[in-house]
Amino acid sequence: MRACAHIHAHPPTRQHARTCTHTHKHTHVRTHTHTCMHVRVHTHTQMKLPITPEFTAIVTGHGKTKSYLHRFKLADNPTCPCNEGVQTPEHLIYDSKLLEVLRSSLKQHIMADGGNWPTPNSELVASYLKSFSRFVKSIDFNKLQ
Ligand SMILES: [Zn+2]
Repeated sequence: MRACAHIHAHPPTRQHARTCTHTHKHTHVRTHTHTCMHVRVHTHTQMKLPITPEFTAIVTGHGKTKSYLHRFKLADNPTCPCNEGVQTPEHLIYDSKLLEVLRSSLKQHIMADGGNWPTPNSELVASYLKSFSRFVKSIDFNKLQ
């Protein structure tokens, strides 16, 4: 799959077709086409990753969450204003009362897509990027300090 992604970074040429046929010679042609389509979608998704400071904070925990700010002495305490715990990305995604409305809309989108809740952080990015980034974009971090 990784080899295909690389090949598909270039315009399809006869050489590309030959390479793919060779790589997948033991599989049915339809499978090969399907695999390549999947890879292309994946690449496209990667390019569209909304790398905002807010998105980074939620996905990596490096940024605007209070647990992070407190670690670097930029906040007096790591507690979320909902008073129900330390404000980590997990707290904001899964627990915080302050984000209940946004979360229920995220949940709805995921369940409508056939997913389950809670969905692990990594899967939110990999499978539900559109809904998840809308969720992150809607968070008003100023109200979470
Ligand atoms: Zn909270």
